[in-house]
Amino acid sequence: MLKAILFDLDGTLLPMHIDEFLKNYLQLLSQKMKSYIEPKDFVNQLMAATAAMITDQDYQKCNAEVFAEAFFTATGLDEEELMPVFEDFYLNEYCSLGRNCRSLPVVQEIVYTVKQKGYKLVLATNPLFPLIAIEERIRWAGIQPEVFTFITSYENMHATKPNLQYYKEIVERINTAPEQCLMIGNDVEEDLIAKTIGMQTFLVEDYLLNRKNLPVLTDYRGNLESLLEFVKGLKECK
Ligand SMILES: [Mg+2]
Repeated sequence: MLKAILFDLDGTLLPMHIDEFLKNYLQLLSQKMKSYIEPKDFVNQLMAATAAMITDQDYQKCNAEVFAEAFFTATGLDEEELMPVFEDFYLNEYCSLGRNCRSLPVVQEIVYTVKQKGYKLVLATNPLFPLIAIEERIRWAGIQPEVFTFITSYENMHATKPNLQYYKEIVERINTAPEQCLMIGNDVEEDLIAKTIGMQTFLVEDYLLNRKNLPVLTDYRGNLESLLEFVKGLKECK
């Protein structure tokens, strides 16, 4: 009996080609930082600090702490001076990246259908970004962030996809057994791994990613239209 529906964001609720998005994002952010650090160095250090969040095994530290430690140690920049600049970026320049994104009516119908049926909704995006950035991206998809019971972000999570610890942390936080969760995503590696801890999975194929050409093991699969049919067929959650 399902109780919670977990949605990936990029390439699932938000139609996007992630590589193109990241290129534009890195260009804008490195320009913002150019009076502190040369743009090429900045991008290299940002990528290295992001890799540190992904490989880190210390689950006492949240991802934001791992990022800050790696980034500010490597660059020698002043954390107290730079963090407000990052924040200002996410509140301003970052919002312009949404211009290239489309919100799809079918996505809104999917999300609000499961909400109406009484399921707990979780936004299970890879928690490499601050909550303000993730909430902004949710709005690009035409969804109000408030519909989600829990949104994973780099401040509140201690692991990243495809680490199983990420999914274990979610079930603890929402107090729901893995067997009562359905993970919906477009990435064969990062999203379908949720099956390993007992979650059900739905692979959304519109922007399917299978970078390592892994075998596809999933309970359900299909495009957004078939996901809509699927959620319409779900029982009310009491
Ligand atoms: Mg995705």
